[in-house]
Amino acid sequence: MSSALSTNKSFRDSAIVLRTQDLGETDRIIVLCTREHGIVHAVAKGVRRSSSKFGARLEPFMLVEFSASSGKKLATISQVVTRRAYAAPIAADYGVFTVAAVLCELAEQLVQNDQDASVGQFSLLAGALSALAHRSHSPYRILDSYTARSFSLAGWDLATSACGICASLDDLAYFSAEVGVLCQNCGRRNLVQRVTPISEETPSYLTALKAGDWETVRALATTPSLSVRSSRLMMEYAQWHLERPLKTLAILETES
Ligand SMILES: [Zn+2]
Repeated sequence: MSSALSTNKSFRDSAIVLRTQDLGETDRIIVLCTREHGIVHAVAKGVRRSSSKFGARLEPFMLVEFSASSGKKLATISQVVTRRAYAAPIAADYGVFTVAAVLCELAEQLVQNDQDASVGQFSLLAGALSALAHRSHSPYRILDSYTARSFSLAGWDLATSACGICASLDDLAYFSAEVGVLCQNCGRRNLVQRVTPISEETPSYLTALKAGDWETVRALATTPSLSVRSSRLMMEYAQWHLERPLKTLAILETES
């Protein structure tokens, strides 16, 4: 729970339900990515009873407004209103569901590391879940773009249009999970670990993902080797910077 909350104080916020965990016979712990209070762990009492006043509003991926009172370890939810019901459209497609699960795990780790960035992270996650629910783009491209943007917001800017070490704009030929794209010279000098050669289009493609420039992403993603390889690079980048390995990556289906 956010340290910003003092005990027994009631508060309201907007939030995205990241995951849930059963507690006792009828309750559930809801892990929320809130707009103003960072990551909040809250109990929804009686939520597993069919007569629960919360209904299906506290399922993963729902965007809600809620009221709660803070406690020592867990907050207690008193009221919930649905703002965007993303749960059903996301769960309808297993591939989309697995991507949404990775997005939520990334958001939980990033916001936990940096509660001050919660407003920006909340908006990015809400935008990505909306795009997934509406099938606006390929789920994998939504994940890649979300990763580039959310990590940059968290202070780990991914170098995409200039070498991450010497800032050269020319001969960008490698990728490192630590910094992003590297020029020919820096890539060959073993300055960072895990250096992979990249194609000529990769820097423009990663730049477009980071900017949310969907027109360019769509045009370049028609080369499947570029988009699939870039996806792998983005996940390596995410894993490198996180303290814990991403559990949900194990269920992410391989892109065909
Ligand atoms: Zn360089």
